[in-house]
This record gives sequence, structure tokens and C-alpha cells, in this order.
Amino acid sequence: MPATDEAAPLTVAELIALGSHTGDDLAAAHSSAVNLATHCGTVTIQNALTGEHRTFRIKLQSARAKFAPGRRVVGLLTGPDNARDFTQFGFATDSGAVAVWRKLRAEGGAAPSKWEGFARMLAELLGSAAPTFDHSPYTVHAATRCRKCGRGLSHPVSIAAGIGPKCAGRE
Ligand SMILES: [Zn+2]
Repeated sequence: MPATDEAAPLTVAELIALGSHTGDDLAAAHSSAVNLATHCGTVTIQNALTGEHRTFRIKLQSARAKFAPGRRVVGLLTGPDNARDFTQFGFATDSGAVAVWRKLRAEGGAAPSKWEGFARMLAELLGSAAPTFDHSPYTVHAATRCRKCGRGLSHPVSIAAGIGPKCAGRE
């Protein structure tokens, strides 16, 4: 066996060979720790070419919820309150895809709806779908919290700084 750089991360196969296949180790071995097949929480996806970003939330419904108990509901942040203003549009599946709700899908033969477009993007960047567009401009940020107040951060600038705009203004 060749000498290895101590700092080099182990591959998943190497971790399993070592008998150290805990979830944390596997997550650390991947470039993105977020897996659409299992993730619950928020994810911000940034496009370096356009400067745009979108924040999605995957929310686990409680077993006693009236709507879709036990399912993971996917929503897009569409308002100013990143704790509440999500427009929900489908279910995250165990196979790492997003099943868009029927009323939000395009009619047969039409171009995919914007919701189907978001579902495709999530399935490719976080899930198991084969790439159909260039992924290199995209960066995925898993949920991060403000170091002062603990609220969730969704803007890439805030995530990079580790602090929200209101708390940063008071520093
Ligand atoms: Zn804060």
C-alpha cells in the first residue's frame, strides 16, 4: 500500500473497509453532505454565473400531521421570512428525487413548469439524477445558523459570514 497524505480524506469504500461507516463519516467523504434521499432542513443553492441563489426547505411532516404524515415536503423560499415563507411544491423521495405535485406540473407536451425545473435541479445537485446541465457554477450550502442569535441563515453572503444582516449591523 502506498504512503498516503495524512490529510487526504478517505473514500467511502475505504471507510467501509475500515469498518467505520457511520453516517457522519460517509457524509464527510462526500463533497456535498446534503443527500436529497435523506435530508431534512434547508439548503441554499447559489449560481456563480448569474449571482442568483435559491433556498429550499425539506420538512418532515409529523406522524400525526393531517397532511402527508411522515412524508418530506419540499418548499422554495418565496418571501422575506426564512423561517416561514416557503411555497411547498412536492415530496422528496427515498430515491433522491422530488415528486412535484400534479397541480404544479406542466400539462402534457408543454415545457416543464418552473417547479419541475427546481425539482430537476435538486435531483441533480443533491440527489441521484444524471446530469443534464453544467453543475460547475453551482454551490450547495446546507443550513447554517447565525452565530449571534441562532436563527437560520439563507443568503449566501450571510452563510459565508456566519451571521445575519441584523446581527452584523450591531457588531
Ligand atoms: Zn442573528
